[in-house]
This record gives sequence, C-alpha cells and structure tokens, in this order.
Amino acid sequence: MNGRFPTLFISHGSPTVLFDDDAAHGFLSGLAAALPKPKEILVISAHWETLKATVSLAAKPETIHDFGGFARALYEVQYPAPGAPALGERAARLLEGAGFDVARDPNRGLDHGAWVPLKLMYPGAAIPVTQLSIQTRLGPLHHLKVGQALAPLRDQGVLIVASGAATHNLQAVFDTRFRLDAPTPDWVAAFAAWLAETLERGDVDDALNYRARAPYAQKNHPSEDHILPLFVALGAAGSASGEAGQAATARRIHASFSFGALAMDVYRFA
Ligand code: ZN
Repeated sequence: MNGRFPTLFISHGSPTVLFDDDAAHGFLSGLAAALPKPKEILVISAHWETLKATVSLAAKPETIHDFGGFARALYEVQYPAPGAPALGERAARLLEGAGFDVARDPNRGLDHGAWVPLKLMYPGAAIPVTQLSIQTRLGPLHHLKVGQALAPLRDQGVLIVASGAATHNLQAVFDTRFRLDAPTPDWVAAFAAWLAETLERGDVDDALNYRARAPYAQKNHPSEDHILPLFVALGAAGSASGEAGQAATARRIHASFSFGALAMDVYRFA
C-alpha cells in the first residue's frame, strides 16, 4: 500500500526564517512538493511543554506569537488553518491505548514551532492541523514511545511533523548579534554531523543516549526541549508495521546553519 506517510523532524530555527533569504527558507518552501498530500497534520512542537501528554481539540486554533523582540511584521502573521479535533481525539485514544495518561485541551492554538514551518510548507493554510505537547522532564525514550503509539496515524493520511532544532544553544545565537551568515562553531557542526550519521545508520540506542554519547551534547542542547520532538518522529516511523523493534529509516533531507549555531537540518523518517 502506498498510503503510509513518512514523518518529519524539522528544525524551525528563528521565526525570522519566514522572511530570511537563506537555504532553510528555500528548502521549507519547497518541501510539501516532495510529500504526499496530507488530509490532516499533527505537530509535536518544542514550544508546547506540559507535565503529561496533551492534545489540542481546538476547532479554530489561534496563531500564538510566542516570542519576543522581533520585527512587528512577524506578530502580524496569521496561520488560519482549521483545527483537527477529530485527529486530536484519535491521537489521544492511541496514546491511552498504549498506557499514557492524556489530557485534552479544548482551546490551545498553534505556537510558532508549528505555524512557522507550516506557513512555508502549506501557505494556503487549508489542511486541518492540531498539536501534541512534549514532556521535557521525561526524556528521549518517553517521546520515542509516544511516537510508536501514534504510528497508525501514518496510515490515515496524517503527516506527523516534529518541530524543534538539531542544535539549539541560544546564547551562541545571541553572541552573533543575529548575524544570519555567522560562522558555525566546530562544536555545533560536530553535533549535527553525529546526529545525522547516527540516525542514518539506524542506531536508535545511540540516538536515545545522545546526551552521553554525542560530542558537545549538553552544549548544543542546554535543555532537551528542542531535540525531544525528533524522538516522536523517529518512534512513529519505526513501529508502523507492528514488528517489534523495527527501526525507522532516516534521511537528512536538508542541512544548513543559520546564525552560526542553529542547525536547520530536516529529517524524513519512514
Ligand atoms: Zn524553537
């Protein structure tokens, strides 16, 4: 059957990627053309952190401008896609079936981890979209299992978009004074390369233990919130056919850096 969707991990970078004339903007703008057309989209964003897994059931999710200090034009961007409450409910039931305690939020809108990449990928805002939160304190394995529970959605025309960052040391970004083409520090490049090599080799164990095994892991991810969505995408791709332990195949389909320290890498899992 040709209907099984891939999953994505997108480094969403700075919200200015919407307007920046750089490689990541160009790539995200063309990404939808390389994908089957989804009926619905489920976003797992680094910018929605809760104590337990929470799905949004909003029918008309508002565009949340959850950032500060940017140009006025960014606060005027809207992403008026319809919500996907039925998808949210299906996701909640899959998670409950796998033993997770799940909350439902009737109102939660779309944060910039969701709407910034979607605005570039699907500017028409016609595809229903909803979000699932992350639980930063619970670490990579929890998020891999969340992804595994969501795998059946890939057979229902759902595109699972995990949105975070391959590297995310914001102090290093501020240190460039937001110079888009600042040079990339070696410790950033080394981590991004390790992640790509590990995922493309299919080494889930190394990936789950990235904090101990990857070069400069803590320096690139002072907190884990921006890398944890990756494990949801990885998990959702890995167990889709139901065979225990079946590994996803991962491809890094985009690699670039913005502001020196932000890897804008995008992964496609199937
Ligand atoms: Zn972010």
